[in-house]
Amino acid sequence: MENELLGKFKLVVGMEIHFHLKTEKKMFCSCCADIWEKEPNTVVCPVCLGLPGALPVPNIDAVKKTQMMGLALDCSLNMKSRFDRKHYFYPDLPKGYQISQYKQPLCIDGKLKLESGTVVDIERVHLEEDVAKSFHEEGKTLVDFNKSGIPLVEIVTRPCFRNIPDTVEYCKQIQLMVKYLGIGEADMEKGQMRLEVNISLRTSEQERKDELPKYKVEVKNINSFKFVEKAIQSEIIRQRELLENGITPMQENRGFKEGSMKTVPQRSKEEAKDYRYFPEPDIPPMEFTPEYIKDLKTNLPPTPYMIIDKLEKEIGLSRNNAKTMVEKLGPSYISKFEKLLRMGADPIQTSNLLLNKKEYRNVSEEEIIEVIKNTKTAYSKMEENELNAVIKKVLANNLKAVEDFKKGKESSVMYLVGEAMRMTSGKNKPDPIQLKQKILDMLDSDAN
Ligand SMILES: [Zn+2]
Repeated sequence: MENELLGKFKLVVGMEIHFHLKTEKKMFCSCCADIWEKEPNTVVCPVCLGLPGALPVPNIDAVKKTQMMGLALDCSLNMKSRFDRKHYFYPDLPKGYQISQYKQPLCIDGKLKLESGTVVDIERVHLEEDVAKSFHEEGKTLVDFNKSGIPLVEIVTRPCFRNIPDTVEYCKQIQLMVKYLGIGEADMEKGQMRLEVNISLRTSEQERKDELPKYKVEVKNINSFKFVEKAIQSEIIRQRELLENGITPMQENRGFKEGSMKTVPQRSKEEAKDYRYFPEPDIPPMEFTPEYIKDLKTNLPPTPYMIIDKLEKEIGLSRNNAKTMVEKLGPSYISKFEKLLRMGADPIQTSNLLLNKKEYRNVSEEEIIEVIKNTKTAYSKMEENELNAVIKKVLANNLKAVEDFKKGKESSVMYLVGEAMRMTSGKNKPDPIQLKQKILDMLDSDAN
């Protein structure tokens, strides 16, 4: 799909991801940072309203959580870091500048390895304050300042993505990492995570010479993984047409319209100098000791990638199953899973139960152990061989469904389960949940 859209051109993408940190207080004042469903303008004070003379005091917890994200992304932490003022005027930013980081961000030069093997090149992870929220209605603009001053982390990559699947997987990995580190919820429906995609095209010749295109188009404020994909596709079509007509696309910011699934122009892209960055005079520079950083590293929770590796290599789940566990269950159920294993539960049975029977996720460990004991699971060697033969036959006879599954259509596995159920009979009817797992495992080993 993507290659057809690109024609003779090659894709170059860089990502900027913003997410809210989960802290008790806002970034520079003592207002409560839990603003979800609060009445507009009820969680505010002179600092986050940007009133003259109000002095910001940095939230140390937010600084620490940003550094945790940096460490999880293999960044170097700057021993000296500081805040800067980024100037622009907009109704949601009445003081005329946002406190952000420019010259000395908290974290620089990280990397993240994706399942595809691609290594994402992280340029920086910095901390800033979020701005207020503006609503436009009936010719008026209304502003709610509750969101103003919520600690906001920005992760910037270098233009290192060459295809859409890697770009989308990276965004998903970041969201998962934020949740597993326990530093935020990154719930896009609540506006806690926003994605910005920098997109440009180049020729094979430029790619060979490792030459970057002379322009980039930034699509702002995307709030779903699906829309990242759609925005890139829409830009490939638009930019390719311009390039084929000998026109270099304009360097600009664009928005994404969900209705048409297309990007539309916004204000033209500011150069960094337009923001007139300068050091925030009301906040002294920060300095960290090697002991402090060592301590952070030692106490860093395992990343989702490390947990997947552990479930696969130490506990013996298939890679596919381990990934699904980490993505679908979240950190608290993974802890529960590990506790059940320590109590002697079988890993494969337990993971099937937690994944496929939601009703058991919140019952006590003792009850789960009881349920597992009473489920028929052990197949005789003969049953096992018969079942494997049936599955192989089903996979061979339904190549379209297998293909669909590999392209990401997860529901086609249920079709395969149905087919396999039809081919087994009487007392040999397998448990559909275990059957599904067997099929997934077989598809998984097939893929590797
Ligand atoms: Zn405040």
